[in-house]
Amino acid sequence: MPTAPVACLNCGRSENDFPVLVLRLAGHETHICPQCLPALIHHPDRITEKLIEAGWNGTVPRPADHKA
Ligand SMILES: [Zn+2]
Repeated sequence: MPTAPVACLNCGRSENDFPVLVLRLAGHETHICPQCLPALIHHPDRITEKLIEAGWNGTVPRPADHKA
């Protein structure tokens, strides 16, 4: 059964447009694209809040400007 497309938690790019990597956090799954991975590596403080949100909610944040 296909699931709804996931999107990068940082930039909101959909897996339909670009590959996204699965991140595991506290038993939840979230996603990040390779272009945002360096931000996670070098500036984790900028993304931690989004990661925690994603982990706690168990959902990937969807920016308002993201085209479905
Ligand atoms: Zn991204």
